[in-house]
Amino acid sequence: MTYTPPLRDELKGIEPYGAPQLDVPVQLNVNENPYGPSEAVVDDVAASVARAAAALNRYPDREFTELRTELAAYLTRDSGDTPVTPEMVWAANGSNEVMLQLLQAFGGPGRTAVSFAPTYSMYPEYARDTNTTWVAGTREQDFSLDHALARDLIAEVRPSIVLLPSPNNPTGTALDPKAVAVLAEALGEVDGVLVLDEAYGEFRRDGVPSALELLPAYPNLVVTRTMSKAFAGAGLRLGYLAAHPAITDAIRVVRLPYHLSAVTQAAALAALRHTDELLGKVEELRRERDALVTWLRGQGHAVADSDANYVFFGTFADRHAVWQGLLDRGVLIRETGPDGWLRVSVGTPEEMAAFRAALTQALTEVVTS
Ligand code: PMP
Repeated sequence: MTYTPPLRDELKGIEPYGAPQLDVPVQLNVNENPYGPSEAVVDDVAASVARAAAALNRYPDREFTELRTELAAYLTRDSGDTPVTPEMVWAANGSNEVMLQLLQAFGGPGRTAVSFAPTYSMYPEYARDTNTTWVAGTREQDFSLDHALARDLIAEVRPSIVLLPSPNNPTGTALDPKAVAVLAEALGEVDGVLVLDEAYGEFRRDGVPSALELLPAYPNLVVTRTMSKAFAGAGLRLGYLAAHPAITDAIRVVRLPYHLSAVTQAAALAALRHTDELLGKVEELRRERDALVTWLRGQGHAVADSDANYVFFGTFADRHAVWQGLLDRGVLIRETGPDGWLRVSVGTPEEMAAFRAALTQALTEVVTS
């Protein structure tokens, strides 16, 4: 029996977001950390979840107080000692959920959300799902942001929320720190909030500051983070933010009750006890990333500067053929962003060697431009 459910008109015919989940030997398509947890971390997570399981008949701590305290301590450490207090922290099931909650609180009918393309393709989906008008500004040829144009767009459309990843996805380059001040000030004039999405913040190059340092200066600045990337916890589903306590208070109004399960809270707290180990591979991944950028440039490709654990490169007349050529050799990367460009996540040295070999071979078969 066929059935057509009463889907909202604007959702009809839309494909769900997501990269292909293919079982191939070298997976470099969703910017995961290639290094799994050690046995010590696995044991601690398992024991903590077992303790939580003994009380699963009860709802979890709705305010996840202990977790907020530990996340605040970690953020203070990663922000050049700018104090981040527990009441400035909020968390949810991945930073995707954190940002959806921000749109639920600060977007909505009659309001506008803005970002600058090419950028993370989930942003327009948060806007669509919250009936928020979506406006995408543009970036320069090198994917940087023209501050004056960005300020003008904000003055013109008066968004209640601007979402900006730093480093940007898919291009990989961190936002010029001056832009944060310019945009936060411009948004202050139209009563809007600036969401700096630092999902990949820990991978930033030396000398690139985190926007966390600017929190004391701008009450309308929100910095989002995740345990999915540098923390090697993509399967954990734990994202979080730091902002003025008035912002975390506002999110409480839209969050579902007990949205962070006791199991998630226990596992995240256990992972945070092993912060040094879990972040221990960040240095190695940054070095591998820089080597990859150098190698790709040496091969004559255009490559965006990367502050992330992925590299954006091109340009190919037929990027799909290059993507397919890599897949045929067991290497899965991502076909995303402006036409002609491809994005590859940084993996282990062995995975990167496989990528370099596969790309070299694949390019002998396809026409490049
Ligand atoms: N922001 C950016 C820029 C991302 O690339 C991603 C994941 N690909 C996220 C946020 C969301 O990550 P998560 O929900 O796993 O925290």
